[in-house]
Amino acid sequence: MIVMKFGGSSIGTAEKIERCINIIADQKSKNPAVIVSAHGKTTNGLISMAESALEGNNETNSFIDFHNQLIADLKLDKQLLTTLYLELNEIIHGVKLVKELTYRTMDYICSFGERASSAIIAAALSARGYPAVQVNSYDIGLLTDNHHGSAHPLSDIDEGIAKNILSLTGIPVITGFLGRSNEGKITTLGRSGSDFSASIIGAALNVEEIQIWTDVDGVMTADPSVCSEAANLPVMSFQEASELAFYGAEVLHPATLMPAVQKKIPIKVLNSAKPQEKGTLILTTSQLSDRIAKSIVYKENLSLINIVAPQFRSTAQLLNTALTKLIELHKDIHIAATSESSISFVLDKPYTDEQLEQIVQECSALGTVSIKKNKCLVCVVGEELKGNPNVLGLIFNKLKEMQIKATMVSQSASEINVAFLIENDEIKRTVSALHSLLTELSTRKGSVHS
Ligand code: ADP
Ligand code: ASP
Ligand code: MG
Repeated sequence: MIVMKFGGSSIGTAEKIERCINIIADQKSKNPAVIVSAHGKTTNGLISMAESALEGNNETNSFIDFHNQLIADLKLDKQLLTTLYLELNEIIHGVKLVKELTYRTMDYICSFGERASSAIIAAALSARGYPAVQVNSYDIGLLTDNHHGSAHPLSDIDEGIAKNILSLTGIPVITGFLGRSNEGKITTLGRSGSDFSASIIGAALNVEEIQIWTDVDGVMTADPSVCSEAANLPVMSFQEASELAFYGAEVLHPATLMPAVQKKIPIKVLNSAKPQEKGTLILTTSQLSDRIAKSIVYKENLSLINIVAPQFRSTAQLLNTALTKLIELHKDIHIAATSESSISFVLDKPYTDEQLEQIVQECSALGTVSIKKNKCLVCVVGEELKGNPNVLGLIFNKLKEMQIKATMVSQSASEINVAFLIENDEIKRTVSALHSLLTELSTRKGSVHS
């Protein structure tokens, strides 16, 4: 058996859906379990819809019209999603009436994207002669904690999921992104969480391979949307891929690899527009390439918080108090730096002005707090960096030469990455310059290694 996951970008139009159906049909003999994201940017639309219901506007037509158009283009039954539309209208109307939008309700509203896409793709497969069945992941045992918005799967769910999927007839087309809490409510696994769903379900079924079908040629040497020179990486290790995802490469959700690593299941990242290409193979074993480092990734719109607190007698005490406060606020950090009486940290993701204001308020009891917004964390990842300090020197020389100010420099103990902070508006210049440098160094690798 295999798992095939199709991201929103691969199923955004009827034409793209037809392409994905052919990809599934070609591998039908491998017994695929198909996992789907919502079509295109549907989840963003549902979030805006929910927020605007809170402001008193109950508008669901954008969702309904978009899906009806797909249904018409694919020549499917016009009534396919009628019940789902009624349910969506009711909840959006409810938010408008009660003027309240909890994380739990937001998860429920987001669920309509994947529930619609799985129904459309299952119907389209069946209509083209490949009998398929729509499956809600939350009905087949994908149980999670109740951390709405970024829920985590419970342990011991594999057997239930496998039993349920194996009892189905036809190709299962399963909702990505969604789970169910022990209170019986729909949860979501965090934005871009369908990759994680694919890995959880792949591990439960102990499949021979998990395929992540997306809109680029696999994992690349840089994000191709900011670096036109980016090239495909044919193979990489789980550890590299997980650093890459953690530091922002959207192509994989950060938690995706965990269940697959435990079962040593290879993951392939493939381009649904070019199914004949090899994509990227991610394996448990270390993978040295002939490059100096594999990829440059970035995470933008982050904030840097600085707390100056001379009253603390030790840095450990300050660090401990600040981190405890952040845990209380359900906020996480990416990297931190300390000095005798101050601590600086980069928050894990973009937060709204109100959320940042709350952090400042809550931390002001510790000392003087300041925030710098519009920061971007850049990370160079690759096993080739290990024990090769010359490359780090060359990277920072290049940044200096280009007058790009890099701060908060950090390297993991595994030495397979180096991360630093720049301004948002320097992303393109930084990624392109470092990409050219790494490509140039790779061509004369022997002389660079220490
Ligand atoms: P999907 O809809 O398939 O889930 P995503 O938009 O989540 O697709 O992820 C694919 C996108 O990830 C690409 O379009 C690309 O812009 C971005 N990306 C960022 N870093 C990388 C990288 N190193 N390699 C490949 N893609 C990357
Ligand atoms: N549809 C969800 C999102 O946009 C999950 C996913 O695409 O993987 O975040
Ligand atoms: Mg994605």
